Amino acid sequence: MRALHFLVPTALLLTTAASHAQSTQTVWNNKQCAVVLTYDDAIDVDLDNVVPALDSAKLRGTFYLIGSSSVVARRLPEWRRAAQRGHELGNHALMHPCDGSLPGRGFVTPDNDLSKYTVTRAVSEIKANNTLLAAIDGKTTRTFAYPCGDLQIGGVRFYDQLRNDFVGARGVTGGLQTAAQIDLTNIDAYSINGQSAEYMLDLVKKAQESHTLLVFLFHGVGGGHALNVELKAHRQLLRYLKAHEKDIWVAPMVEVAEKVKAYQQRNPTTPR
Ligand SMILES: [Zn+2]
Repeated sequence: MRALHFLVPTALLLTTAASHAQSTQTVWNNKQCAVVLTYDDAIDVDLDNVVPALDSAKLRGTFYLIGSSSVVARRLPEWRRAAQRGHELGNHALMHPCDGSLPGRGFVTPDNDLSKYTVTRAVSEIKANNTLLAAIDGKTTRTFAYPCGDLQIGGVRFYDQLRNDFVGARGVTGGLQTAAQIDLTNIDAYSINGQSAEYMLDLVKKAQESHTLLVFLFHGVGGGHALNVELKAHRQLLRYLKAHEKDIWVAPMVEVAEKVKAYQQRNPTTPR
């Protein structure tokens, strides 16, 4: 709504808002909003804690896999089974390079420093990871998640060369957006690290009220990573989503991004 002009007469504005809300609800599978659960970095707890929790609630999520992760190599059949049960195996790059020239990036090793990459290398490693993921799940459509949320190499947005390889790309900036507002090249997501169930449920309720997309970005769930959410808080979130499944569309990112893409193609003049 933020792009509506001040001088539009109130009646017209209300009509526009009403029809907009209606079409936005259609894009969310005729529900109030969409919630996407994403889990980064291909860690053991994804398979030990998260997949079983999602499966028992009959909810599906997106797992952003680092192709070089030992957990991909060791547990490949389990990732394949997760994909067969409807979870998305998303692309989180082959080596997870992050920009070591930014402040607070002491953890970035010279080998994994995105600022030392060429754009061509970044693009070809990400494409190679797509080949690996396709060999695991047999799929040709998926989404990408920026390692460390880094979009650029030397001022160049490398995803521009990957637009045809993905339906969309998830970022790391928190925000709730309507289908018209979403930037499919950098989809907002709320990073969760130690927040309570109340905090997460509050976000879901806000998404329901505003008919927007809410993306959660998890790493550890019940441990397994320095960034973590308690098992109990995660369980409470899943329970709420399950209890409100009539009103909330919970789906992997690739399915939601496909819907948003189609919506934006149908409504090309919608201000963003
Ligand atoms: Zn990551």
